[in-house]
Amino acid sequence: MELTNINTVKELLTKNGFTFSKSLGQNFLINPSVCPRIAEMGGCRKGTAAIEIGTGIGVLTKELALRCDKVVAVEIDERLKPILAETLAEYDNTEIVFADVLKTDLNALIKEKLREYKEIYICANLPYYITSPVIMKLLEERLPIKAITVMVQKEAADRLCAGVGTRESGAVTVAVNYYSTPQLLFKVSRGSFMPSPNVDSAVIRMDISSEPKYNVSDEKLFFRIVRAAFEQRRKQILNPLSGALGTEKSKLSKILAECGIKPTARAEELSMEDFAALCDRISGK
Ligand code: SAM
Repeated sequence: MELTNINTVKELLTKNGFTFSKSLGQNFLINPSVCPRIAEMGGCRKGTAAIEIGTGIGVLTKELALRCDKVVAVEIDERLKPILAETLAEYDNTEIVFADVLKTDLNALIKEKLREYKEIYICANLPYYITSPVIMKLLEERLPIKAITVMVQKEAADRLCAGVGTRESGAVTVAVNYYSTPQLLFKVSRGSFMPSPNVDSAVIRMDISSEPKYNVSDEKLFFRIVRAAFEQRRKQILNPLSGALGTEKSKLSKILAECGIKPTARAEELSMEDFAALCDRISGK
């Protein structure tokens, strides 16, 4: 079945009485070149396994199944069950778990279903309403995976792949760079989806670091500092940091100076090393 053919898709959905849920971010891919590229550039090949988040009607699932030995997908919408039973009938290396990915223990899922695979890749066309929480979950849970390749809104892709210390950077940029090495792979126009969203998209890949890239003594404190600094991103960091950490401004000014950071600096001007040094000084290590 050609899952990027508009007429085939319309027929399939009508037959199953399926209507798109805007609140679940259901924009299905109908551009035939996109899913094969995500699967290939995402690392899928013989001997590997893939995890997908949000199957829709299985257009990407099928491409992952064609290349990987096993695919496990997490999809929240049980109305897609009969549709997927039909579209993935011939791909017996796929397994769909109907659940909310944000409430799923992915480490347990990997242990249970993908234990024998040394190389696991996450590939997805993410629902836009939960892009950041999903990416943060995938990174923070330290899953035994090689890379995450996801389609996100173009603006989100720009922020995720921006260099730390640039105007486009945000707290999520620091987090992504802490756990991985991100890169923008390619852009996808809004016309590639059904229904068509009113924004363009881009596919990014984050290669997970096997060893910590930065020496951070207290990870929790590190991310508290990053979040506080970016909360008022155009403001000098002294005030928001002093408020969030409960440290007197004079003491904080001294710490900033010891780290070689100007008291007038804004979060977007700080490097990963600056944030790490700040964390070490504040924690007293
Ligand atoms: N992969 C398909 C494609 O490319 O056409 C569908 C992508 S669509 C942008 C996002 C999918 O994620 C939808 O199928 C939606 O039902 C599912 N989804 C939304 N929220 C979810 C959640 N919290 N957990 C798992 N799946 C979710």
